[in-house]
Amino acid sequence: MEGDEVMSEPQPASAKGANIEEKQYLLRFNADTQSHLHVMDTEVCMTSCPDKICTIFCPAEVYKWEEIRMHVGYEGCHECGSCRIGCPHQNIKWVYPKGGHGIVFRLG
Ligand code: SF4
Ligand code: SF4
Repeated sequence: MEGDEVMSEPQPASAKGANIEEKQYLLRFNADTQSHLHVMDTEVCMTSCPDKICTIFCPAEVYKWEEIRMHVGYEGCHECGSCRIGCPHQNIKWVYPKGGHGIVFRLG
């Protein structure tokens, strides 16, 4: 009908396309002093994994390739478990953080 307009309600920021930094604001981390993630053999990464795929599939960007080694920023891990199955060489040892450590979700 002419003259009719459909107005959309403004959406809260959280419902819009939030970037990873905004989403991470909803998360808190209680990091252990020891990593719960271990790249077992860096040589395998160097010689057999040209795409360093863990640096792509990890939603928290925990893995960063630094020329000859893999930096593992375990403190920011979201515990999604993807690296358990995502490494094509089963080269990542993944366990849950010790009790009381790891990610905490802020709800509301
Ligand atoms: S995906 Fe696995 S083999 Fe490839 S770089 Fe990451 S840890 Fe290394
Ligand atoms: S469990 Fe998920 S968030 Fe944590 S390092 Fe693995 S892929 Fe990244």
